[in-house]
Amino acid sequence: MDRKKIVLIHKTGLRLLQMVHKEDSSILPLHLLEIVLSVVQAYAALFITADFVDALIGGQYERAVRLALVLLSVELAFGLAGSALRRKFRGMETRMWLLFYVWIRKKAFALDYERLENPEVAQKILFLERTSEIYGGLGTVIYHYCQILCALIKMGTSAFMVGYLCMARPVRGSAFWQAVTSPVCSFVLFGGALFGMVAFSFYFTGFFVKKRMEMFRKHTGVEEKISYLSKNIFMNYQAGKVIRIFGMEKMLLKNSRAENKKVYNFFKESCSNDLKQGMGDTVISSVYAWLTYLFLILKVAVGAVTLGAFTKYAGAMAKFALACAELIGSQMQLQQMATYMTEFLDFLNWESAHTVGTVPVEKRDDGEYELAFEDVSFVYPGSGQPALRHVDCKLGLKKKMAVVGKNGAGKTTFIKLLCRLYEPTEGRITLNGVDIRKYDEEEYRDLFGVVFQDFKLFSFTVGENVAAGYGRSEEKIWEALRKAGVEEVVRELPQKTDTLILKGRGGVDLSGGEIQKLALARALYKDAPVVILDEPTAALDPVSEAAVYESFGQMVKDKTSIYISHRMSSCRFCDDILVFEEGGIVERGSHEALLARAGEYARLWEAQAKYYV
Ligand code: ADP
Repeated sequence: MDRKKIVLIHKTGLRLLQMVHKEDSSILPLHLLEIVLSVVQAYAALFITADFVDALIGGQYERAVRLALVLLSVELAFGLAGSALRRKFRGMETRMWLLFYVWIRKKAFALDYERLENPEVAQKILFLERTSEIYGGLGTVIYHYCQILCALIKMGTSAFMVGYLCMARPVRGSAFWQAVTSPVCSFVLFGGALFGMVAFSFYFTGFFVKKRMEMFRKHTGVEEKISYLSKNIFMNYQAGKVIRIFGMEKMLLKNSRAENKKVYNFFKESCSNDLKQGMGDTVISSVYAWLTYLFLILKVAVGAVTLGAFTKYAGAMAKFALACAELIGSQMQLQQMATYMTEFLDFLNWESAHTVGTVPVEKRDDGEYELAFEDVSFVYPGSGQPALRHVDCKLGLKKKMAVVGKNGAGKTTFIKLLCRLYEPTEGRITLNGVDIRKYDEEEYRDLFGVVFQDFKLFSFTVGENVAAGYGRSEEKIWEALRKAGVEEVVRELPQKTDTLILKGRGGVDLSGGEIQKLALARALYKDAPVVILDEPTAALDPVSEAAVYESFGQMVKDKTSIYISHRMSSCRFCDDILVFEEGGIVERGSHEALLARAGEYARLWEAQAKYYV
């Protein structure tokens, strides 16, 4: 691995530590304290033990007892403080783990809809979340940096002690052994051997980690497929219907077996890799231990150090080897994490493609918000064809409007642009004469209560779904439920508005029509000045549909309302009908006027009328 890459990894790592510190300024100092405690504890024990052994050998038993007591007290005090800190860290680690997801989701919410709709974004979020599950999140980054720092301090301290040992001069033995154990020879021979071992360990571990990373990368696709099969197919009770009707059981089991085989092969290869690495590590550490003991025995034999010092230096060298292994391990782990951590930081830095407006939206009790499209065209990102072409229209103030047209004519796109989910490619949309891009986005969206075709309800309680982000009031919830025609259904539920909905997630299952009515209740609850219903009644029976329209008619009396419907009969009662064709408005007027024109509207009307006579 070249230096540039290592620098890049640590730049990413340190940036993340900075962010963690900003979130909670106690985490890093507490970890530093733990490092200091563990280093002091480890080396104090070595020094005290060495003195203790020398005292025993020298027959100074009183001193030996005193030293033993000091040793025990140090171990106890530092041990207790360390374990209290580690217990605290456990809670912190969980917080850090969750923080990673919170940051991702916060960012996803802050992104403009246009970007969020792009499948690449969903894949990116999935990749970040899944890789963090495999390699660890922010808590793991902190852990590895602590390991690295602790290892560096230990290696430095041990190296310093070994340097001191090398300096110890021989006082007896033959000229040859005195020369071999002299400070210069000690530094050259032992220092060289140590350095060689460390370099070889780095290379050796690096080789296997790289191999493992490649295997994991290939394996991520398999894991994703298994997770899809499990979550979306085997554990999805709704999929069960389709599987049985279309006899897909055998095909699915065959698919699942094929993926399981890949998992088995992956683990086989992974185990063989670990075995080879484990064997290599054992050989390296045995050679290292053999070398250090040989060196120490020589130093004791020529009288350079005492027997007590032997234990001290043996311990220091063992700690050096252990710290070195920890350093390599953590460095490699960070290396594995670096790719996705860099992508994570990139993701957090994504700019919104939308213009950020700051002008507040005027709060008007009279609800007089006039919206207009001025020569608006729009092309979806990555699509060659415009979905809207030169749309120029004013939305009638407090009028009941309808938008009609064949599938793909651009009706939903028109609404999405109106709600500022997308920005026009050309032209502008205005609110009371001002370009909507200039307004504060959230305040602007507060103007709309929308029931989309693919309305989404979530596996929360009825109350949470209806009130959404607009402050929960039981009275208002019941009013909205009543107006949407679903009050009786909710009254029958075991916990009324506190009942969890959506069966697959442990809630109650409601019919398609009931769910759609709840979506309507949510739009009513918002009590926005502009109400938009995009195919709102598709799942309703004709009686419910009529009731909903009547109720909505009442509700939107003082509002601007827009209905998008394929059922032409529901447009009949609108004051103003916009007819879309191939992304443009081709006709506009009242039901009678449009029928009299005998154009596209009349054709659509005729086409449906024949099913009703
Ligand atoms: P309607 O609501 O009238 O059925 P839409 O507004 O949904 O029509 O679609 C208008 C055109 O834009 C269609 O050609 C459709 O295929 C295309 N379109 C809709 N959504 C997207 C999208 N997210 N990406 C690319 N093209 C889209």
